[in-house]
Amino acid sequence: TAAAVEEPIAPPVQVNYNQLLINGKFVDSASGKTFPTMDPRTGEVIAHVAEGGIEDINRAVSAARQAFDEGPWPKLTAYERSRIIYRFADLIEKHNDEIAALETWDNGKPFEQAARIEIPMLARLMRYYAGWADKIHGLIVPADGPHHVQVLYEPIGVCGQIIPWNFPLLMYAWKVGPALACGNTVVLKTAEQTPLSALFVSKLLHEAGLPDGALNVVSGFGPIAGAALASHMDVDKLAFTGSTNTGKVVLELAARSNLKPVTLELGGKSPMIIMDDADVDKAVELAHFALFFNQGQCCCAGSRTFVHERVYDEFVAKAKARALNLLLDPFKHVEQGPQIDEGQFNKILHYIKCGVDDGATLEAGGGRLGTKGYYIRPTVFSNVEDGMRIASEEIFGPVQSILKFKDLDEVIRRANNSCYGLAAGVFTNNLDTANTLTRALKAGSIWINCFDVFDAAIPFGGYKMSGHGREKGLESLKGYLQVKSVVTPLKNP
Ligand code: ADP
Repeated sequence: TAAAVEEPIAPPVQVNYNQLLINGKFVDSASGKTFPTMDPRTGEVIAHVAEGGIEDINRAVSAARQAFDEGPWPKLTAYERSRIIYRFADLIEKHNDEIAALETWDNGKPFEQAARIEIPMLARLMRYYAGWADKIHGLIVPADGPHHVQVLYEPIGVCGQIIPWNFPLLMYAWKVGPALACGNTVVLKTAEQTPLSALFVSKLLHEAGLPDGALNVVSGFGPIAGAALASHMDVDKLAFTGSTNTGKVVLELAARSNLKPVTLELGGKSPMIIMDDADVDKAVELAHFALFFNQGQCCCAGSRTFVHERVYDEFVAKAKARALNLLLDPFKHVEQGPQIDEGQFNKILHYIKCGVDDGATLEAGGGRLGTKGYYIRPTVFSNVEDGMRIASEEIFGPVQSILKFKDLDEVIRRANNSCYGLAAGVFTNNLDTANTLTRALKAGSIWINCFDVFDAAIPFGGYKMSGHGREKGLESLKGYLQVKSVVTPLKNP
């Protein structure tokens, strides 16, 4: 069985920043209120953090507005903006392990994953966007008439950005990176579960030369600070990552206020399809990673593992063994940490119960691990049917659901039978099968013989109720630019 959680060790870092960051300064909230942020290993308080309310969002938006209208950020040359973002990436690298420890402490993810994957990716993403800053340029288009026609790309203005807790700093990079590279100013509302790392790195961004007001960071709760940002009349664009239900709320708030454009990156129930030509050991390992990575807390988790009937029994036996061997405790050399908080912990346990009640076979796990914190035993269900709640609703936890299929047409139909369309995994050596599935699956990312490949240049986003728009890559810039067409008559065409 999975290794027991021992006494948690003290994180090698301390909390230096716990206030709001408005107009380049750390300040208390207008109300003076704070809220606690917890260590998911123990449920104990790490720090009390300034709680942003409506007045704080107003202050942050007016700082961002002034920094946009009067500059200097959008008025710097693109090269100057790019250099500041490059310097920021250098500072992230310099403080890599300190940032990673803070992230692990607040989020519970394994330190090795924070230090070797997430924080390096933050630096990489920032360099990617720094590289774009001075390469965004317009077009001259041919028109049917004696006209000189230019298309200009301008920053869109003040960007409101709301991010979740599962990858606090990757979500920071996906949002703040393109917004600043395009010359916008930002008000960022972090998730109430994980406010610490964004404050730390934003301080570094100012050290790198970011002018006051270009990025403002407000910690606080969704229905108050988040809703105030989404419905603010002076915010020109909203970018949101979180659950599909909250996505609907913020889209409505945006529409009812000033009709600001919104990009949404929402939930998923992504299929991972294992064909019968697969090397079963490799397929098990990949499907395991697709689901269990980050404690199962990925919007694109491969949470419906479809396995061809010819390899099904062998796959289930090996998937079970793999889950039972998972090691837990985030500051050791381990694979899985605790879930983020009590709410998510209880929700996942509830879904495990639904799986049992609905008649799926519990192969491994099925309950909490230890007596402290929010650890859940890696859980595997076989004999899962499409209609069961564990097969149709997003669990966001370490619960693998294995479903059996017979042929390609059937699995295409079943895989697409979801309100979500974020990602899909395919495991096969047959090129025709891979091509057929690639064309047929309705999802924004298709991973063939791999999963969770998140290069800075690869666009990411959802079909259907998984979202609007794309993040990362060239596509992400479109969400942060306004398009202006300029027409001038030509005297001598
Ligand atoms: P989760 O259930 O995983 O916490 P949410 O979608 O509720 O996902 O949270 C993602 C982000 O959205 C967080 O920053 C949260 O504070 C924010 N949020 C939650 N509710 C609202 C709301 N009503 N308006 C704006 N933002 C919200």
